[in-house]
This record gives sequence, C-alpha cells and structure tokens, in this order.
Amino acid sequence: MFESPLEDVPQRALTGDLPDEPQVARLLREAHARYAGLDEGTVADYIPALAEADSALFGLALVEADGTTHLAGDTAAPFTIQSISKAFVLALVLDAIGHEAVHRVVGVNNTGLPFNSVIALELNQGSPMNPMVNAGAIATTALLPGGWLAVHEGLSRFAGRSLELDERVLRSESETNHRNQGIADLLTSYGRLAGRPEEMVEVYTRQCSLRVTAEDLAVMSATLADGGLNPVTGEQVVTAEACRDTLAVLAACGMYELSGEWQFEIGLPAKSGVSGGIVAIAPGKGALGTFSPLLDRAGNSVRGQRACAHLSRSLGLNLFASAPRGKAHRDG
Ligand code: GLU
Repeated sequence: MFESPLEDVPQRALTGDLPDEPQVARLLREAHARYAGLDEGTVADYIPALAEADSALFGLALVEADGTTHLAGDTAAPFTIQSISKAFVLALVLDAIGHEAVHRVVGVNNTGLPFNSVIALELNQGSPMNPMVNAGAIATTALLPGGWLAVHEGLSRFAGRSLELDERVLRSESETNHRNQGIADLLTSYGRLAGRPEEMVEVYTRQCSLRVTAEDLAVMSATLADGGLNPVTGEQVVTAEACRDTLAVLAACGMYELSGEWQFEIGLPAKSGVSGGIVAIAPGKGALGTFSPLLDRAGNSVRGQRACAHLSRSLGLNLFASAPRGKAHRDG
C-alpha cells in the first residue's frame, strides 16, 4: 500500500506547531499535485449508488486548530460520509454516557478482520470489539440518547452547518444492506444491542448517508484536534475527554484491518469510509479531510492515504516521532 518511498519529501523537525500558513498551503498543494494523477484502486460498488462516483475527484483540506483553513482540489465536491460518521457518533456517545460504558458495551480493540465481518462477532462471544467496525458502530449508535435526531444534530455541530441526507444513497444502501441487518440481529441474539435491530440499522444507514465535502471533514475532525471546540464556529461540541478517547480508538481501529500499517507509515489517529473520504487528526494542531473515491482492498482511499503520508512527513505530524532531547541541548 505504501510502496512509494517518501525519501525526497523533507521530514519536518518536530516543533509542536504547524509551519507558518504559506508553507502549509504550499505543502498541501504539493501533496495534491503529486497524487492527482495516481489512478490505482477501485470505486466501491457493494452499495450500488456508490459505483457511480467520479473517480477523477480529489480534494485535500486542512483546518488548523485555530480555524485557519487550507484547500486544494475538489474540496467542495459532495459525497456520503459513510464509515467516517462512526468516529463522530462515537465522540457524541462518549460525551453522553462516558468512557466506561463504551469500553464495557462495545470494546476498543481491533478485530483484524474486515469492517463488515460477522465471524468477528462469533469469535468474540458477541462482543462487537470496537466502534469502527459495522457491528460496533451499530451498537454505538444505539447507545446515543435521542436517536436519529441526536445523530443528525451532533454531526451537523461538528461540521458547523446542517448536513443533508443523500436520499438516493440511503435508498440504495437500505435496499441492499442485508449484511448489516444480519449483524444487528446477531448483536440482539447476544443481548448486545440497545434497541430494535431494524430501527438501529436504519439510524446507522442514515448517518452513513449524510452528505459532506472534504472541507466539512476537515472542520469536523479539527474539532477533535481542538479539545471538542469547533475552531470555525467556536461551539464546544463534545468534551475534551470524549475527543481524547475517540482519537485513541481511531488510532487502533480507524483504518480497518490496515490500521497497524497506517500507524507505521503515518502515525496519526484517522478514519476512512468506502465513499473515499479520510480524516487524519493531529491533536492540538489541526486535521486533514481528504476525498478521492479510488480504494484499496481494505476500503481506504489510495490517493488520500498517500497524501496523508506526504503531509504527515512534510508537516511533522507523526505522533510517534521524537528527536533526541540531549542532542538538541548539545547542539544548542
Ligand atoms: N454504510 C457502509 C456500510 O455499513 C459504510 C461502510 C464503510 O464506509 O466502511 O456498509
């Protein structure tokens, strides 16, 4: 997946801050230009309406923790949020019912199996394992007091505008999501679903069908980078603790079964969705929202991943990187 080495991209020294604005803007444009011509991967087709996506689209947005926004490419193109909604619903649920309840009912460990696995449930005595696979996401959505209205209102507060439903994608997915319905029935049989299975799948499918842009994704995820305060609207959407816990889950489970590989190369909490979006969050600094519909075998956008790898390196975002402190002192 990450076979193209980035040795020619200068690794930024770690300063705790982003570079100055013109440099961020330049590096974003550079990452966009570098990968705009890459056409590896395939558009998702298991939801029929998604197969019609324009594979040429490619947008990169970065919103800093102070709200400064940088855009490159197709950042205003609308697409359905799909699995990226799981990250924000999790933050709302953590905010509403707390760390312990999510840990107990859903879990926070990677399954190592595809996002829509039924076997993962059977192998783990009905535990959904984490809120980023479909079983865990349906169980998490069911925990949010207020149902669909709370999901819609909450995700809109993250975006700073009222998000609209894509009725066509909703219909297309509702007619074909037998697997998610099966997962919800299985969760119910294990006593793990706080609601009626058909209703919970309906709310979950709606949350996946909300229409966003790459810029929306960057604003939504910059809110997670900024202790729950939306840096564009100034609204406190969730607590800082809910953000911290959400980012921990994204780091472990956000990129499907390739989450380990993502951390090894990029080193940021992130979440992708099958319509081609990715969010990657640098706590305290800002967040990236990317969109390009061509996906790898796990369901992650190919151009989006490459652009995130480039920017993690060129902007000095990798959370696991450090410079020897003694050496910095010695070198003055
Ligand atoms: N709505 C999709 C599903 O449940 C989301 C999948 C994804 O983006 O990973 O199958």
